[in-house]
Amino acid sequence: MEIESMVANSALIRAREGGGSKGRSWKWKEMLKFPHISQCEDFAKSIERDYVSLCVKQPIGKKLFQLFCRSRHDLQNYISLQDALEVFETKSDEERGDFGFNIIQRFFMSQSNQSVSCMQKYEQSCIERLMSDSCGDVFHDCKEDLHKILREEPFILYQESMFFDRFLQWKMLERQPITKQTFRQYRLLGKGGFGEVWACQSRSTGMMYACKKLEKTHVKKRRGETMALNEKEILEELDSRFVVNLAYAYETKHALCMVLTMMSGGDLKFHIYNIGEPGLDQNRVRFYAAEVCCGLIHLHQKSIVYRDMKPENILLDDNGHIRISDLGLAVRLSEEGLVRGRVGTLGYMAPELISHKHYGLSVDWWGLGCLIYEMTAGQPPFRTRAEHPKPSEMERRIESEKEDYWDKFSKAAKDICTALLKKDPKERLGCSSLGGKEVRSHPFFKKMNFRMLEAGLVEPPFKPDPRQVYCSDVQDIEEFSSVKGVTLDQKDFEFYSKFNTGSVPITWQNEVIETGCFRELNTFGPEGSRSQDLDW
Ligand code: ADP
Ligand code: MG
Ligand code: MG
Repeated sequence: MEIESMVANSALIRAREGGGSKGRSWKWKEMLKFPHISQCEDFAKSIERDYVSLCVKQPIGKKLFQLFCRSRHDLQNYISLQDALEVFETKSDEERGDFGFNIIQRFFMSQSNQSVSCMQKYEQSCIERLMSDSCGDVFHDCKEDLHKILREEPFILYQESMFFDRFLQWKMLERQPITKQTFRQYRLLGKGGFGEVWACQSRSTGMMYACKKLEKTHVKKRRGETMALNEKEILEELDSRFVVNLAYAYETKHALCMVLTMMSGGDLKFHIYNIGEPGLDQNRVRFYAAEVCCGLIHLHQKSIVYRDMKPENILLDDNGHIRISDLGLAVRLSEEGLVRGRVGTLGYMAPELISHKHYGLSVDWWGLGCLIYEMTAGQPPFRTRAEHPKPSEMERRIESEKEDYWDKFSKAAKDICTALLKKDPKERLGCSSLGGKEVRSHPFFKKMNFRMLEAGLVEPPFKPDPRQVYCSDVQDIEEFSSVKGVTLDQKDFEFYSKFNTGSVPITWQNEVIETGCFRELNTFGPEGSRSQDLDW
């Protein structure tokens, strides 16, 4: 490895290790200094007073609403119950029974000092549900009822409290303009169609991210505007632990930038082919396939088809969990649930997509079939690794040839691949009205606990080495050529301003919380005289 590469790698490794407080600029507190509340007035008038958005979905909003409720004797128990119900969801299957009964004793029984009276009516039904199936959504109705109560008077009182003022102050910080200066840049991670992807770090919080740059001239020359905006808008709307998150969208003089969850464990292509014999062991195949399946279900729930399933686009984080990335081809389905368009990578395209038909979510289940096949076999389903058939030949094989199976495939692995690689989408696994649920309940996933997986409680079978950089050496990543003779005009600037929306609220708020900045900064000074009533 060349010296330049080693320097770039060790700078990145150090930043990752220091990630969080050590990576913050010495001026971080100044960068996150609350504006005076009088500066928030206009914003306060324009913000939509929606309980779910302000107190449930936005992480900082939720925290401040909870702090408000905790400061009030009459509301404390509601919040303690809400906390307990959240902890319940992080318990393993074995622990759920006991923990569930504990919740019922503490909050549902009239003799308890934490009793929440409106919950008493659920005592019997919840006990029954815990006994029959403690892994079901035992407290569903209780959670709904809690929200029904909290969204009325408590929510109104909250908006008059200093906690809501503080929320507005955080929102103003969130809305600060984003520029190149917001981040420190580390090494080049990879190259995409319109530009490079760089490792970067927020100067104010120390959070590591990957910045995907789209060169303005390239985008224009290749008419990539719709695609770029589409990718950004779809990412912005998603919130899944199995899909990369968008944290910021901003522009520099030369590029449009999407700042994404940092995935430092490399892509699945690297893991399938570059470490030992091609292919992965069955535990890993099952784990990655299950996480990808959850990611697809999340997209499909929002009527989004991914259309770009292949090992290169599935990335590992530093703990060994995967996320689906590269949503440039993802698209929202029409009312009829169909789209057209021959896009993707030929080797992974479903037959119905190749033959120019209208298609729907079925193409992603085909893609999952290709992925499971390739992880197991160490080669994709319709060609060997060394072979480069002509496109017409690839199409013929995909549309009419059956893929091979040999002893690397267990019976369950062969079954699920066969079911996902059915040429006719009507017969394909995942394409009935049950959708992704049908895929999850296939015998291949018998050992997989999807409830725990979705809660992030399943330990990955492989953890990337934190001292290794899982991507090509910097000098091996081809340099990005510049295009000449493209001039930018008014129409381009209009498009850039649609793209340049800054921080994405949920991701930004999570960043501030996860890096500890929220805890350190969210204190209430002596001026907030009401703060003395609080018991922290
Ligand atoms: P394109 O849409 O142009 O193909 P990608 O989104 O696939 O661009 O990104 C190009 C390359 O950059 C990927 O193959 C990968 O090596 C790297 N990359 C992309 N996103 C991330 C990320 N979130 N974390 C780490 N590396 C990434
Ligand atoms: Mg890509
Ligand atoms: Mg792409």
